[in-house]
Parts: sequence; C-alpha cells; structure tokens
Amino acid sequence: MIDFHCHLDLYKNPLALMKEVEKRCDFVLAVTTSPRAWVKTSQVFSGIGNISVGLGLHPEILAERIQERELFMSYISKCSYLGEIGVDGSLCNRNSLSMQESFLLEVIKVAEKQGGKVMSLHSRNASKKILQIIESEVYSSTPILHWFTGTLNEVEWAISLGCWFSINPKMFLNKKGIEIVKKIPLSKIIPETDGPFTEHAGRPYMPWEVDIILDNLSQMHRIPLTEIGEIISNNAEILQKKL
Ligand SMILES: [Zn+2]
Repeated sequence: MIDFHCHLDLYKNPLALMKEVEKRCDFVLAVTTSPRAWVKTSQVFSGIGNISVGLGLHPEILAERIQERELFMSYISKCSYLGEIGVDGSLCNRNSLSMQESFLLEVIKVAEKQGGKVMSLHSRNASKKILQIIESEVYSSTPILHWFTGTLNEVEWAISLGCWFSINPKMFLNKKGIEIVKKIPLSKIIPETDGPFTEHAGRPYMPWEVDIILDNLSQMHRIPLTEIGEIISNNAEILQKKL
C-alpha cells in the first residue's frame, strides 16, 4: 500500500498510527503544513523506513505563518520531499494570493538550485497558475499534482510538462474527477488519501486504505488488479529514485 500524500501528524493518535503504517504500508509520504511541523514530525517518524516526511507550508495558512518563511528556505537542503506547498485560489484565500505565489516561486528557485526535489503540490482553484509556474520555473524537480481539479485541457497541459498526479478515493465520486483520472496515463499516477481530510463511513481514510483507488483504476482501464498494483509499485519506485 502506497500513500503519496497523507497528513500523518494530523490524525488523532499519530504514534499508534505510525506502528500500523510500519506494518501495513509499503510507503507513505507524510506531508506537513509548516516547517515547524516538519521538524517535529521528522523527529517522531525518524527510523521508520517506509515513511518520508515532506517539508511543507500549506498555502491556506501561509499568511499566518509567513514568519516561518526563512526557516522553510533553510530546511530545503535537509529534506527529500517538499509538500504540502502550492497555491490556493479559493475566495477565502484570495487576499494572500500574491504572497502564496511569491513564496512558491522562491521555494522552487531554491529547490532547483539544489538539483530539484519531488514536490507534492496543492492547486485548488489555482490550477492554471500552478501550471504556469511549473512551465516557467521547474527543470529538475518532479511536480506531483495532488488532488488535481483543473480542466481536462489543463490535465493535458500538466502531462506535457511531465507532471505526476496523486489521486485519492474522492476523485472517483464525481463525473469530473473520473474524467480527470481517465485522462492521466497510468504511468503518471500514484495513490494518496489526503487523510485525515478525506472521510468515508464517518471516519478518515487511513494511509493503507488505497485499495479502492486501485480497484477503480482496474475497472476504468479494464486491466487486472494485480497488473495495476505492479504499475503503481513501479511508479513509486521511479519517484523514489528521483531523490
Ligand atoms: Zn493535503
């Protein structure tokens, strides 16, 4: 089981969860929402071979955490993965849009100077902006668009830019999400839960509950489940080798 975008530190009992993840998952990318959270989460999960912790500063809280900007930049050289970072163009975050963009540009600039990072990118209501930034600034890094909700043309654009997509169970619940997933080559797909922010049956998705994604992909492409499993494992290996 592979979960490439999960907020492990935000579940109710991360320590108990950690033990389960160690047993049940092949790999989890634990994204964080602030550099301070990255430090703490990295300490807690250090030594757990199948968990990597992404250095993040979530666009929705960037304005209130802008004093952590320098801290973030100084940690980039110490991390393998970046995330969750990106731009959120929702109405409630419009006031910080220019701050969000300038922060992301600086992060990418620093990451590129260091040979590039694998980055999990948030793009809600800002897909065009994110793709413009990737097109003009990303050369060595590997962008993974997390829970992409842009247009189908933007999906094509993203594919042409070499983007990857982390997809979660919620994307199979509506027509638009299904159309997006259909358009993405299987060789660019990696599962995510975005837990604990995605729920089913009144509780959050757990990082090992990605089988529903594989089932859906198997049905969508009429490819046996075992084959889908192999493709996804291979994709995760490719991403891990980029570090
Ligand atoms: Zn997230």
